[in-house]
Order: sequence, then C-alpha cells, then structure tokens
Amino acid sequence: MDSKAISFEEGIIEKFEEFISKQYLVELSRVINEGRHSLVIDFRELDKFDPELTDFLLESPEDAIKLFQTALRRIEMASEVQLNIRFCNLPENLRILIRDIRSKHINKLISIEGLIRQASDVRPVSTVITFECPVCGTQIDMKQTENTVKEPTMCSCGRKGRFKLVDKKLVDTQRIVVEESPEQLLTEAQPRRLSIFLTEDLVEPKIEKKTSPGTRVVVTGIIKEIPIVDRGSKSTRFDLIMQANNIEPSEKEFEDLELTPEDKKIIKEMSQDPLIDKKLINSIAPSIFGYESIKEAIVLQLFGGVKTERPDKTKVRGDIHILLVGDPGVAKSQMLKYVASIAPKARYVSGKGASGAGLTASVVKDEFLRGWSLEAGAIVLANKGICCVDEIDKMEKEDRVAMHEAMEQQTITIAKANIHSTLKAETTILAAANPKLGRFDPYIAIADQIDMPPTLISRFDLIFPIRDIPNKEKDEKLADHILSSFSKPEELVPEIAPEIMRKYIAYAKRYCKPKLSSDAMLEIKSFFVNLRSQRKKGEEEGIRPIPISARQLEAMVRLAQASARIRLSNVVEGKDARRAIRIMRYCLQKVGMDTETGELDIDRIVTGITTSQRSRIIMMREIIRELEAKYGANVPLADVIDAAKEKGLEESKIEEIIEKMKREGELFEPKHGVLRRMPR
Ligand code: ADP
Ligand code: MG
Repeated sequence: MDSKAISFEEGIIEKFEEFISKQYLVELSRVINEGRHSLVIDFRELDKFDPELTDFLLESPEDAIKLFQTALRRIEMASEVQLNIRFCNLPENLRILIRDIRSKHINKLISIEGLIRQASDVRPVSTVITFECPVCGTQIDMKQTENTVKEPTMCSCGRKGRFKLVDKKLVDTQRIVVEESPEQLLTEAQPRRLSIFLTEDLVEPKIEKKTSPGTRVVVTGIIKEIPIVDRGSKSTRFDLIMQANNIEPSEKEFEDLELTPEDKKIIKEMSQDPLIDKKLINSIAPSIFGYESIKEAIVLQLFGGVKTERPDKTKVRGDIHILLVGDPGVAKSQMLKYVASIAPKARYVSGKGASGAGLTASVVKDEFLRGWSLEAGAIVLANKGICCVDEIDKMEKEDRVAMHEAMEQQTITIAKANIHSTLKAETTILAAANPKLGRFDPYIAIADQIDMPPTLISRFDLIFPIRDIPNKEKDEKLADHILSSFSKPEELVPEIAPEIMRKYIAYAKRYCKPKLSSDAMLEIKSFFVNLRSQRKKGEEEGIRPIPISARQLEAMVRLAQASARIRLSNVVEGKDARRAIRIMRYCLQKVGMDTETGELDIDRIVTGITTSQRSRIIMMREIIRELEAKYGANVPLADVIDAAKEKGLEESKIEEIIEKMKREGELFEPKHGVLRRMPR
C-alpha cells in the first residue's frame, strides 16, 4: 500500500472521529449505557460536517463503514464495544424506486421506500466458518456468501482435501420483501419487489415488531448481486438484493398525504359549497350510469366513521364495509376498479385471482433462507386504506377465516409453521359478489345466494343488491349514457378531479373526528327502537323477528359520522343521522324487506326467513315448471291460474304474483294469455 492511500484512510478515520466527538458523544454514551448495538447517524448531518465523508460512504459503503468503526473504537468510551454504524435520512435523490435499481447501484448505498410484503422467520446464518488443516493445524477463515458452505481449497502447508470445521460465526438473518407502494406506481403497473436481508440487531424482537408485513418502511442499504442458482448449478444471471444498513418505519401513512397551505385553502372553500355532497357523488365513476344510492354510500365509505376506543379498551371500527351483490354485467367490477383508482392507499384484488393468501396473509417457503416467510395479502397491504375485493365469493377457504377477523377486529392472525403473528388490517372493504345462481333473486335470502358464510355477510355495514331488470325508460338512458362514453368521453370527466378528492378525503379523515349531537342520537335511536319493536302483521306463531341488530346501529353511527366529515364538521347533526337512516333503510328494503308486509327484516338477509310472498313465488315457479313439461316453454295463463287455485292460492294473489314476476323480469307474456319463463 502506498503512503497516499494510507493517508487517505487515516484522513477519513480522523475526520469521522472528530465528527463523533463534536456531535454524537451524548448519543454514543446513551447507546452504550442502554446496551444497544448500533449508533444511528443522520446522513444529512454528516454531509453538512464534511461532504468528503458522505461521498466516500456512498461510493464505497463497506470500506467506509469499516473505517468509521475504527474511528469509533478510538473514542475512549466505545473502545471496548462492537457497534454497528447505521445511517438514516438519506437525501431524496438517493431514494431510488425499486423499479429503477440497476447494476450501477451494485455495492452502493441507497435507500428505498415501500411496503413490507413478506417477512421470513429469523434464522442464524453463518458468515464466517473457521477450518483447521488436519496436517499442520493452521486455522483458515472462510467468508460465506452463498447457500452452500465454501471450504478452503488448499492450506498454506500445501495440503489439499477435506478440512475440519472448528468454528463458525453465526449472524441472525431475516429476509424481507419490500414492494413499491401504490402511489409510487404509474397507473396499473405491477408493483416491483426487492429482497432485503436484515442482520444482527435489525432483527431484534423490538425492531421485528416494526417490520411486520404491511408496514411501510424506508430501508437504507447496499445493493448486492447474488447468482441465481439453477438446479444446483450457478448461472450467469444475478438477482439484485439489498443488504440492509438501516430500516425505519416510514411516517408517511396515506392519511399523511402532503397537504400544502394552498391545498388546505381549496379544501376549506370546497367544504362551504352546499352542493359538495352532490359533487362528490357525481365524481364517483361518472362513466357508470345510475346507482346514485350506491355512489352516495361509497362516498361515505371513503370518508369513513371514527374509530373509537371505549374506556374499557374495546374498540369499534370506523371503517364502513360495503358489499355489492348482483347480476353479471351490471358494472360491479368497473365500480370497484374506479374506487381503487381514486381512493388513497387503495388496492383492487379479485377473490378468484388472489391465489393462496393474496387476500389476507399466508406462510410461504423462503427460498433464500430455507425457512418460512409471512406474506401479507392485499387487505394487510391496504392497512388504513381501502381494499376493493371483487368476486369475494370465490375467495380461498383460508382467507374466509381470516376475513372474519379482519372485518371486525381489524387484525389478521396467522399461526402456521413456526410463524405466529398478528398483522394490522385497519382496512375498509368494498366487495362485490355474484349470486350462485347467476342472477340475484329477491325472494331468496342473500345468504343462500352468495357462496359466503352468513357470519361474514353480516359484517358488511351495507349490502346492495344490483339487479339487471329490463326497463324501457331506464334502458334507453343507460344506452345513451354508455354510447355517449364512446362518442363524447369528455363529458364524463368527474366534477371533482381525483387528486383533489383524495386530498379532501385525507384532510377530513385527519382533522375531523365528529361527535354525535343529541339530535343525531335521538334520530338513530328512535329508528332503531321502532324497527326492532315492529310486529309482523299476520305472524301466526307470534314470534317477533329481530329486524335489525346492534351491528346496524353501529353502522348507522359510522355513516352519520362520515356524512358530517363531508362538511368537515366535528358535529354529527340530525341531518347526518337522517342520511344514514335513509341509506340503511334503502339497503334493508332491498335485501331485508318482507315484500309482502312491507316490514324490514334483517333475518332475511342472513338466515332467509320464509316470508309469505316468497313461498308463493316459489310455488308459482313450480307450477309453471310442471306445466312446461306438458306444453313446452309457452304455458297457457289459464292453466297456471287453475293450478294455483288448486294449491289454495286466492285469485287476486295469483294475479298479483304473476304481475310481480313479470315486473322483475322472471316471466313474460310472448302473446296474450301465454306465459313464458325468462331464460337464465
Ligand atoms: P360485473 O362485474 O357486474 O359483472 P362489469 O363491471 O364487468 O360487470 O361490467 C360489464 C360492462 O358493462 C362494463 O364495461 C360496464 O362499463 C358496462 N356497464 C354495465 N352497467 C353499466 C352502467 N350502469 N353504466 C355504464 N356502464 C355499464
Ligand atoms: Mg365482475
């Protein structure tokens, strides 16, 4: 080594020692007293002190850190301890998007930000193995970088062959996979991932908690290449991984979307607009025609209720879960995709496509460490945001169990292999399901129509059945709407642009925690009590159904809070409560109304109580089916009436039911006096 190189290294050591002595002595003594294993240095402070140090650090991070450690040991109080030196707060220009990492970054220090998708269990990995020569007794240290043990090829005494393993240095290692977070993505792009290895004190239990899947982190580290092992033989292709120097939870949750003073001014002005509700509703999927009530509910869902912790520590979620059940081709998927594209921290997944634990969480094999790894699904990754789950009825069995917990407790617990973990899932769910029979049937309980456990269905605050019933007037408007989206797409731009809508929602969620006024409480209470005390007319056994449950009561509170948030108000007023009641009533009517008595009946949603009308309609279907055997598809009306009378139905009821079935698109009259079932 020439003297210039030595003086350069010595120079670095001296400068770093000076930096620590001037700015980090207090921190250093704290680290040592608390028995911690690393000293975290603010990169920007070091850069301000002497850019030569940071330049060298970025250029040759491994050498630099070694010199810095030497410097540290020269300080008296640190002379006896082995401390890792970690860096935080790298400047923005060194924060590289995962998709932009290239081979030029190899062996350089950079930082990345993203969501932890996978975290393996912690395993000891040997970094250095000491071998002994059986002939001369020399000990040889071999650095281990690959999966298989590297032995010395020859001893200094000239001996070749097997060596005796005498010692190994083990380092606790964990592999995490970090994925780009949705807002870093260009629209629709698949998020890229990066494997990151954490070692030593970065895998201590205290830190491990902060690095569970679903957390947003900033990782600083050195990019390394490792050969891809192809069936045992090394290939010329390499994977880029990161050897972490430091990992910190990122403060930037979606609620902390950056709002400039200018943004705040615009938001406050918007909130004064008496038409703000309408404008927001019209800005939800303007290309989709109709569905005002659903869009209104989605707006409320985006704002959300307030998560409350009661004095006894029980928590009530603020998230409003919505389920759309309906006929195929009624724009359910479109709606979900749209919401995922405008809502902050949103994810769209299909229950069908999400293999394994794409939805909740799963334990997968870790090919690097040969252990197990906990992988977060969409609901965990959308923590504090919204997850749009399409075809939720087709989700995997394992996910179903986890969904129950996710939707009420807002956590996902997983215990498999040797991984036991509870992940946060404070996620709002907007789901869509197709009815088992292809079409939604208002006379059959929802629980019997969707392939989903009733207990899960009942966790949705609002359920909207969507039916595709031919209706000339509506169909004309729908056709005009869809066709105009092809000819004049510019007319369908949302009134409020998604960027500002996102900020508006973020602002409301951050600053408004509306409380119920006595007016609002009274409204909700009387609706709830009245509905529950309703007696069913003509109830033979005298058993009173419980029409709505405490769940719906909580749901109404959430909806009312969300309604107040739209105005950026901290008070839930009577009108907010009335809106919540109106929406709740609308849903209950669609799914829970006994269409005969006109009463609401929540039991119909989940258990499928036999209502008077339902049984009649089913009877009528049977009659028509039987007659089809005789006449073919076209069945004479007179025969239907006769057969129904025979079964004890009154004439007036018979006509009413036939009319109803025609209205609902189940039957039609191809010519006078003839009935025919609509093909399904
Ligand atoms: P689903 O998921 O309910 O089966 P999709 O979302 O795939 O249905 O919708 C099918 C197509 O029909 C989409 O291209 C959608 O835009 C269109 N469509 C259906 N209903 C409407 C509507 N009310 N307004 C505009 N487009 C609609
Ligand atoms: Mg669909």
